[in-house]
Amino acid sequence: MAHLICEVVYRGIFQKNLASRITRGIVLSARKSGRRGIAFGRYGDSPQRNGIPAKDYAIVADSQEELEQHMARYEPKELHVTICVDDTLCKGVESWAWYGLQPINRLLLPDGHLLVTSTQPAADLLKDIHRKDSAYNLWILPGKASFSGLWVYKEDHTEVRVLGALAKIASGILSLDAVCQAIREAEWGSELKVESARRAYERIERRPVRITEGNPDTPYSFEMPRWWEMREGVSIPSIPVGKPIEGGKGYRPERNGVFKKFTTRTMRPVIDFDACVKCTLCWLQCPDSCFDVMPDGLYDANMEACCGCGVCEAVCPVDNCITMVNEAVFEDNASQWQAWRKDKDAYRVWLAAKIQDRPQVVRSHGFRYRGQYEEELAGGPLEMGGRPVTAGIPGENAEAKVL
Ligand code: SF4
Ligand code: SF4
Repeated sequence: MAHLICEVVYRGIFQKNLASRITRGIVLSARKSGRRGIAFGRYGDSPQRNGIPAKDYAIVADSQEELEQHMARYEPKELHVTICVDDTLCKGVESWAWYGLQPINRLLLPDGHLLVTSTQPAADLLKDIHRKDSAYNLWILPGKASFSGLWVYKEDHTEVRVLGALAKIASGILSLDAVCQAIREAEWGSELKVESARRAYERIERRPVRITEGNPDTPYSFEMPRWWEMREGVSIPSIPVGKPIEGGKGYRPERNGVFKKFTTRTMRPVIDFDACVKCTLCWLQCPDSCFDVMPDGLYDANMEACCGCGVCEAVCPVDNCITMVNEAVFEDNASQWQAWRKDKDAYRVWLAAKIQDRPQVVRSHGFRYRGQYEEELAGGPLEMGGRPVTAGIPGENAEAKVL
């Protein structure tokens, strides 16, 4: 008797199709190996919201009876493999209020496998991935996070490369031949995709992780309210008024105290405070009320609350004043304005370094015009998602900025 339980942790909406294709591909490959399988999404993640971490599962078993035994559970609590299709999720996962920060490797069984799509080396990923009380294996599939959306799918071969890698990781359950057969026979039907799966199988390498390795931080958590603390009837409290800061010279809006939001983020804004003209547009338009008003009238995007939507970059009228940068290159949620106030020269150096890094790590939330993905994929190595097309990313259209 043998079975395999996998989860795919992904960005809600942006990677919905990718995740379901991977789990469906696992089940189809299992069928080609004479096994049974089922793919399903986490009930609690519906309806999905932009960028909020979500999960799909695939369970494969030798027999129908064994499969049904696992299906009887609400959702898997222990996993052989976690597949993470955006490396910024290595910082942790927070799907709902009261949920707290869940380490990406939390449900892995001892000696389980964490497969991450990333351009970062293992040492950098382990700065983010929380320590675990049992050893496990880290596998890195080289490539950028593949984002598209609810109605579109980016054919950059991420799904078949994940399946090829999985054939190596779980070779006792999914053979490479079965994976290739499934890819060939399913709607993909492409020898190029079969070749991508084979290449991923050959190239992927295991990095054993000891219990002493990883981010030593204790993930934050919230205490759930007791039943007697709950209010009567159905009532939704309104957002309280914010509080003055620095003796009333500044102002911080009140925010949800039990949902930090920042694990939603795959990129974050960095602000050039020297360029800001205090027009208030970012503060007005931010959908999450992220901007604290500082004593000098500048606006500081609070990284505990920012979900990384990019609206502030889009509305800012000043060229290069707000720039969205890959979340992976940041190590904390510290205030940018405080850093700027403390040492303006050092801040300028920091800012330039972060923005300079951008061409290598540019990412967007997906589809912006018809034919964009074909253009991207034709322009560079397929494994790296082709050449990023930045035209049309909010804020990238410098000519549209008036100041
Ligand atoms: S990216 Fe900008 S607009 Fe979006 S949540 Fe963050 S601060 Fe607000
Ligand atoms: S939109 Fe740009 S210029 Fe206007 S207040 Fe925000 S950062 Fe400053």
